[in-house]
Amino acid sequence: MAEKSKVWLSSPHIGNNELNYVNEAFETNWIAPLGPHVNAFEQGLQEQTQTKHAAALSSGTSALHLALILLGVKAGDTVICQSITFSASANPIAYQGAIPVFIDSENETWNMDPLLLRTALQEAKLNGNLPKAIIPVHLYGMPAKMNEIISIANEYNVPLIEDAAEALGASINDKPCGSFGEFGVLSFNGNKIITTSGGGALISENAEMIEKARFLATQARDSAPHYQHSHIGYNYRMSNVLAGIGRGQLEVLSDRVASRRNNFERYKQYFSKYNNHGFDIKFQEEPIGYFSNRWLTCILVDPTANKGLTREEIRLAMELENIETRPLWKPMHQQPVFSSSKSYLNGVSDKLFENGLCLPSGSNLTEAEFSRILSCLDTIFAKY
Ligand SMILES: *Cc1c(COP(=O)(O)O)cnc(C)c1O
Repeated sequence: MAEKSKVWLSSPHIGNNELNYVNEAFETNWIAPLGPHVNAFEQGLQEQTQTKHAAALSSGTSALHLALILLGVKAGDTVICQSITFSASANPIAYQGAIPVFIDSENETWNMDPLLLRTALQEAKLNGNLPKAIIPVHLYGMPAKMNEIISIANEYNVPLIEDAAEALGASINDKPCGSFGEFGVLSFNGNKIITTSGGGALISENAEMIEKARFLATQARDSAPHYQHSHIGYNYRMSNVLAGIGRGQLEVLSDRVASRRNNFERYKQYFSKYNNHGFDIKFQEEPIGYFSNRWLTCILVDPTANKGLTREEIRLAMELENIETRPLWKPMHQQPVFSSSKSYLNGVSDKLFENGLCLPSGSNLTEAEFSRILSCLDTIFAKY
């Protein structure tokens, strides 16, 4: 029997103009770092996120690393980070030799719990050891409770690095994710809502900081005819070819958001017929004024509320059909590599990891793929 083609969790979805921009880079031999596409892409990101300055970089991870460096994070400093996230939110803290402190989530948006953040900052202040930065994340495109987080961070005068890697196009009361913190971090990795095959950006209102980011990202060369360096530099800039892909992708961002939001509505409607018949599948709901880009649609399957059905049963049945799903991010406080780190916990992210599943959410899912997914789910529900 022929293998069924794979249904991906989230695959690249190229628009009409990406190749034109890439061809332009080739025709003008503007292949090497920087160039007109990089400038135009940065301009586009500034407009999209309503921020004044953007530096296009080689990845979201490098953007986080530079943000920490620019905030003066050094060996032995502490940095607060959301526990449930992709490891790239926390790894750059370790690159600096700094110490991560992890904060659990609230139930509504699944992101950093402002109450636990306050507890952590109160204790840190008492110990005379306030963190150098706080990294909230907008998980799966759902904005964190930024108003609460900002007001607490301001009380203690600790800057925010907003990890908006999954949240380009999301907003709270029309204010874009990425524009709330001292710094915002974006990612254009292959699985994100738009992609440059690999890439990221650091955004900020602070012109001087973004200028410094560009300097550090291009090997920290002093202005001299020879190579001279007074700082340790990095090779973190985005190339002109990849920025060309990014320009084309930005043109279709609002379509991509609409498709992904449509996926969410479709899944939600599908599950509602079972939720009226003894099941209780839960979703990541938008608080009033919140707009998620619905990068990934995720469900929570608590077996005690679903006749014993588990998310693992769903995941394995999908896998047999060559349909990719994935448990929610495993919280950092549960990761072996961070096992000695301090954390402030309330049980929420443990439950999310235990019961949560990300469903195929690409903006390029076809009708045939959707039918395969839903009929696989029908077969599972029919057993209960
Ligand atoms: C993807 C991602 C990153 C890292 O971005 P890269 O461009 O892959 O380096 C950071 N944080 C979160 C939450 C992400 O999902």
